[in-house]
Amino acid sequence: MAEIKKDVVIVGGGPAGLAAALYCGRHRHDTIVLEKMAPGGQINLTDRIENYPGIVQIGGFELVEQLVKQVKTFGAEIKNSAEVTGLAPNKDGYVAVRTDDDVYRTKVVILTPGSEYRKLGVPGEDKFRQAGSGVSYCGTCDAPFFRDREVLAIGGGNVAVEDTIHLSRFCKKVTLIHRRNEFRAEKVLVEDLLTEAKKGVIDIRYDTICTSINGSDKVESATLKNVKTGKSEEFACDGVFIFVGMDPNTGFLKDSVALNEHGYIKCDPAYLRTNVPGVFVAGDCREGAAMQLATAIGDGVACAMFMKEYLRDPGWWRRGIGGEMTGWA
Ligand SMILES: Cc1cc2nc3c(=O)[nH]c(=O)nc-3n(C[C@H](O)[C@H](O)[C@H](O)COP(=O)(O)OP(=O)(O)OC[C@H]3O[C@@H](n4cnc5c(N)ncnc54)[C@H](O)[C@@H]3O)c2cc1C
Repeated sequence: MAEIKKDVVIVGGGPAGLAAALYCGRHRHDTIVLEKMAPGGQINLTDRIENYPGIVQIGGFELVEQLVKQVKTFGAEIKNSAEVTGLAPNKDGYVAVRTDDDVYRTKVVILTPGSEYRKLGVPGEDKFRQAGSGVSYCGTCDAPFFRDREVLAIGGGNVAVEDTIHLSRFCKKVTLIHRRNEFRAEKVLVEDLLTEAKKGVIDIRYDTICTSINGSDKVESATLKNVKTGKSEEFACDGVFIFVGMDPNTGFLKDSVALNEHGYIKCDPAYLRTNVPGVFVAGDCREGAAMQLATAIGDGVACAMFMKEYLRDPGWWRRGIGGEMTGWA
């Protein structure tokens, strides 16, 4: 197993990681992005992005291609098929980042392993998950593509409630189903939902689950089952929005970096520092992330800027916004 020295190691080649790499490379730091698959992250799964400021519309692949090209222009290396399996802070101010093949020794690590939408696990979900086929996990991202259509929304938490209200601004009809007889979302959000439902666009069905998503090329219907009566029905719809949560890709960090109870990486929100000196976090894997392309990119850039403070003075890691000691780390 080779030991490789780098100025910066970025874990994950999604938008947050690539944005960080672009800045680090441009600042002439010897930078490597370790990506377990190929670069792009979740953006590879979307065909149209319409909410990245300054770009009216762009395909996911196209944006990734541009980002990768830009990163390489400024000299950062991207290593594909390099899954990071763990990291360990050393006593001499370096962090060791492990993959199956190598160990990287570096002063700065930027963690950007992202998150994954939790799947419902029903027949048809994977088939229609392909861009534009009708299954979506993000109301904020995809609501405009369902203008004047009828959609099914699934879930009972905050995101399900908020995104159902958001969908109702675009769709002709939104039917929200929940497997229990009461939502677990915050009370104030549920009250908003019930008020919005009175306008007639949102329909709510409790004690109801989706057992399959059906259609030929695109979603045409979903099979719904009432868990109390056991009765099933074919429900016609143009799209299915699945809001059953997200899982951060942070299992490999559980022994080294502080995570919250849901597995998101804890950080100081001003400077994106984790509890391990020299280890920053950016994008969808961090506590408090907005789970958007623009915010992931912003986080990546912020880490690349703040790391200069740390390299100038490692004591900065423990200082707060006004220079006072935070006790952080
Ligand atoms: C279908 C879909 C459509 C979307 N549409 C939009 C949209 O229109 N607008 C918008 O703003 N947002 C959209 N999003 C959300 C947006 O894609 C994410 O917010 C953004 O990609 C988060 O970037 P990230 O870099 O934090 O994480 P990710 O994109 O999740 O990237 C993380 C990367 O890290 C890699 N990785 C994970 N673990 C390891 C490891 N141990 N070692 C090495 N590499 C690892 C992964 O393979 C992945 O490439 C969409 C998401 C999806 C799924």
